[in-house]
Amino acid sequence: MPHEIVYGTSVIRYTISRADRKTLAIEVHPDLSVNVVAPLKATLAAIEEKIIHRASWIRKQQYYFEQFLPRTPKREYVSGESHYYLGRKYLLRVRKSAVDTVKIKGGELVVTMPNPSDTMQVKKLITQWYHHQAGKKFESALSNALTTHFRNKVGERPQLVIRKMARRWGSYAPQGKITLNPEIIKAPSRCIDYVVIHELCHMVHYNHSTSFYHLQDTLMPDWPKWKQRLERVMA
Ligand SMILES: [Zn+2]
Repeated sequence: MPHEIVYGTSVIRYTISRADRKTLAIEVHPDLSVNVVAPLKATLAAIEEKIIHRASWIRKQQYYFEQFLPRTPKREYVSGESHYYLGRKYLLRVRKSAVDTVKIKGGELVVTMPNPSDTMQVKKLITQWYHHQAGKKFESALSNALTTHFRNKVGERPQLVIRKMARRWGSYAPQGKITLNPEIIKAPSRCIDYVVIHELCHMVHYNHSTSFYHLQDTLMPDWPKWKQRLERVMA
């Protein structure tokens, strides 16, 4: 059950989760929801006091996220539409040509094909292109993370699989297999690094324990920022 407090003219609704920690943390998510991570023994009165104290900050975060709502409209795969690649926005331009090509040129994502009005085919070409770029980019992000952060921590290089997943950016299987969602190629490079580092941390800790987060914090102290960016791009 969400809790709520009245702040000025607005109501702040929030959920509480308990954790074995000393301080209280407030999280504002891109869907505008608020969660309080409270120490096991913190009273509701203490939590409310903290929320009131941080209320203006909470509203500020919510206003910030509000600008990204409603979520990305459905793509139609016609010229002039925006598409994202590595965190940058490109305008789609579909041109007539005997051969199928997809490339980034200037600020545009240029697709050439015999029949530019075949939007299904435009979608197919762009999807293939994203997948291909993802393959190259993710392999190099993996190599980078392994040499920079995991030199003596893990044995063999994990196998990389690129597969579209409904609700996940990446996953790790204990046999040493990392699966990454090709969709994250739309986000900035550091977001991809974050997902790769997160999955590699699972080679050391196959859980989301305190030790797991400690390792992730050490390797990428600003990971929450990139996680948030990713949530916004993928929304
Ligand atoms: Zn994980």
